[in-house]
Amino acid sequence: MKITFLGATHEVTGSCTLIETFGHSFLIDCGMEQGADVFVNQDIPVNPGDIDFILLTHAHIDHSGKIPLLCKNGFKGKVYSTEETANLCKIMLMDSAHIQEFEAEWRNRKAKRSGGEPYQPLYTTADAQCAISSFYPCVYGEQRQLLENVVIRFTDVGHLLGSAAIEVWITEGNVTKKIVFSGDVGNKNKPILKNPDYISDADYVVIESTYGDRLHGERIDPTPILVDCLQRTFDRGGNVVIPSFAVGRTQELLYLLRQIKDAGLVKGHDHFPVYVDSPMANQATSVFLQSNPECFDAETREIYNRGINPLVFPDLKISVSSEESKAINADNVPKVILSASGMCEAGRIRHHLKHNLWRKESLILFVGYQAQGTLGRSLLEGASEVKLFGETVAVNAEIASMPGFSGHADKAGLLDWLGHFSPKPKKVFVNHGDEDASEAFTKCLVEEYGFNASAPFSGTSYDLLSGEVISETVGVRIEKPRRGERSRDARAAKVFARLLASCERLLRIARSSEGMANKELAKFADQVDQLADKWEK
Ligand SMILES: [Zn+2]
Repeated sequence: MKITFLGATHEVTGSCTLIETFGHSFLIDCGMEQGADVFVNQDIPVNPGDIDFILLTHAHIDHSGKIPLLCKNGFKGKVYSTEETANLCKIMLMDSAHIQEFEAEWRNRKAKRSGGEPYQPLYTTADAQCAISSFYPCVYGEQRQLLENVVIRFTDVGHLLGSAAIEVWITEGNVTKKIVFSGDVGNKNKPILKNPDYISDADYVVIESTYGDRLHGERIDPTPILVDCLQRTFDRGGNVVIPSFAVGRTQELLYLLRQIKDAGLVKGHDHFPVYVDSPMANQATSVFLQSNPECFDAETREIYNRGINPLVFPDLKISVSSEESKAINADNVPKVILSASGMCEAGRIRHHLKHNLWRKESLILFVGYQAQGTLGRSLLEGASEVKLFGETVAVNAEIASMPGFSGHADKAGLLDWLGHFSPKPKKVFVNHGDEDASEAFTKCLVEEYGFNASAPFSGTSYDLLSGEVISETVGVRIEKPRRGERSRDARAAKVFARLLASCERLLRIARSSEGMANKELAKFADQVDQLADKWEK
């Protein structure tokens, strides 16, 4: 009974953990790495065709995005998730595949001109379709036996529609061990979703640590801030442009905007139009609206019970085609424009920025985290002009950000969730947090709360029967390309770091081979020498 940590180890993205038991193997999450990549992730040490199934905590791409790649490489098993996660993945995995194909097409056009090598997409829409057809929906709270010795259960963890913590019971001989995977733990008192449910017992807990070193501070009600932004912008004749993540955040904003309109909180602009200009956001809203109301918090269910749709209102306008998108800025009626991407790096939001940034009466309102190096971040940091579609656009519009939106529990929320395990788990593994957050949270668990906790690096594995470490890796840092180096060099640095990690693995295996039969040791040494001879040339 072995657990191996592969991704989201000392990093926030690329969640992936492997469990092996009695000749079977399965993954918990199979996510894509996004944003800055700091450490090398080891490859899954099992042939994809030999992986029995995947348990998926939720639909975000950093948890689900590599499932199509696994299918492309021969995975034939089922993906177990909640029904809502499966429905969101239909949209998100197809979108991810489109991005991969689009990028490959663009690189190939460039390669053709420069005589470079052709570029293959990471995966295609056909691979994403294959992944989507592998989903098998599960219900919160129901135990399901997946192998003779493996039982699982999904618990609502209030992070995204359908998100779950997963309890896994594994029996070998007459010993059963229970491992709980937190997935991403939600923030309490968010619109639409329930607060995270608690789990009371486990031998081992694998917990995220995105905000493991931070507190969100006192909860701020976003409604009055949003009302104020709308009022002052509409009064001066401008538009409120909100760059918003298509899945989750856009629906929360629609929920608040419906309430604001219903209560007539913006004076003198009763019928202000709200445009959702993101095909993916509109598809995600449909998934929310088709979901069982039992997924939602009491307040949202109560709205449904009154016969009101919580995400739809009379002046809501959905744009699907690019013509509809372009027409949004054709008139001077003050309006709200919700569009993706949330950090302004791609998508239709860039057109709306082009039309509104130069207008001093408009407002660009940020409602989510803006990573270093993104257009969103430079606007928040006060850029006076930006480049959009090759044009320099002056920033005259008001730039503001709205607190009170976070999909993740902070340090206090994580401690609260973990504090409901009684007795304490034998061991807590901390993942899904950047280096500082995961290490600070682990230190806090050990020193302040008396947990046995560690933050494993990619490739570290434990025997779950004994709780002993089987192999412990150190983090292999990806060398940052020097300024001016092209992405090709960044890839080369990543591949080189992977080679070093493989060599370290070999050395670890050699060190742990002491006591093996002499004949085996000699064979091993011969093989290593042969390999060294080959590469020394
Ligand atoms: Zn997430």
